[in-house]
Amino acid sequence: MASVNVHCTRCNSAQVYRHGQNPKGHDSFSCRDCHRVFQLTCAYEARKPGVKELIIEMAFNGAWVCDIARTLKIGINTVIRTLKNSRHDG
Ligand SMILES: [Zn+2]
Repeated sequence: MASVNVHCTRCNSAQVYRHGQNPKGHDSFSCRDCHRVFQLTCAYEARKPGVKELIIEMAFNGAWVCDIARTLKIGINTVIRTLKNSRHDG
């Protein structure tokens, strides 16, 4: 199974594998080191004031989605969703 560019939310290990999806359709990941299963929705992070603006600013400056997600410690899907939602005035 291919590894994914995700770190464990508990031990920060990179030995994380896609575990499946929960009933809501969110990707679920499993950590090989501590066996924690977690989701990468990270919606709570994106609701923090300023995160959306940071995502947009980094994208505007040429950062890749993966870089933004890693830097801000949020999910890639959150970055993509934020950018999609921000294009209305573009
Ligand atoms: Zn872990």
